[in-house]
Amino acid sequence: MFAAIIVAASVAFVSCESQDDNLAVVDEVPSSVLAKLTNAGFDVENQAPITFQDGYLVEGDIYIPAHQLDQMKEGVRLPQAEQYSTNNLVSTNGNRVITIYAPVESSGGGGKGKKGGGGSDGYSAAMIAGLDLAIARYNAENLEISFQRVTSSGGADIVMSRLNKRDERRGVLGSAGFPTASGDPYGEILMSGVLESSYGLSTEGIATIIGHEMGHCIGMRHTDYFDRSISCGGSPSDEGDGGVGANHIPGTPTGASAAAASWMLACTDGSDRPFNNDDKTALDYLY
Ligand SMILES: [Zn+2]
Repeated sequence: MFAAIIVAASVAFVSCESQDDNLAVVDEVPSSVLAKLTNAGFDVENQAPITFQDGYLVEGDIYIPAHQLDQMKEGVRLPQAEQYSTNNLVSTNGNRVITIYAPVESSGGGGKGKKGGGGSDGYSAAMIAGLDLAIARYNAENLEISFQRVTSSGGADIVMSRLNKRDERRGVLGSAGFPTASGDPYGEILMSGVLESSYGLSTEGIATIIGHEMGHCIGMRHTDYFDRSISCGGSPSDEGDGGVGANHIPGTPTGASAAAASWMLACTDGSDRPFNNDDKTALDYLY
């Protein structure tokens, strides 16, 4: 996702780190891993996976822990159409509130342990405003799921935490995963804390990016997963089903376009992408 920003950031990053050969070696993803990701249906050519946490970041923002590599099913290529979900979805029993916790930055430069619990690892008011707007956008759809921000991490369904500083510096914007086999949302969003301070994004732009990661957590694939060049540029490329499923959502039209500006397009330009009519249809169908 977010190619425009990632490209800009990684260009700057590479140019200031070009003497550091060790870094490039550390970041090298083994060919055996690339082969497994390819076999599962992920595109590893147009957006190269990077080492991330205890595994790899693929498609720009999907976290695959190393221990999952051998469990991924073989991917299948699917016909082109617009909105897609994973095989696993969040079970709602008709109505489910998904709680999200994000640590809040201490005010007054007081460091860790102050109000909000986040210290310097917390989120600025601008980031929290973006999260709250993303939540409000989902809740306005009157789905069987709704989101609620909570002020304690204990028991929260999803915990949103800062990326490590190195990943923030090299231009990763966010990461998430897909719902569990037992019907729970993916429990962790790792999100950059500098979308406003370094990239100058508006509250709406931040809400679009956080809402995108929330979308993955409840089972949304990239709208243009079948050809991420639609939003990312470059040559046509198929992400494949990644072993997690890419099920066309009935009622959404074939073909995606950058102009339709779905919030689940693979790449962002940092702009505001509120739910379009097809996005709403997709959410309403799933939930
Ligand atoms: Zn994504």
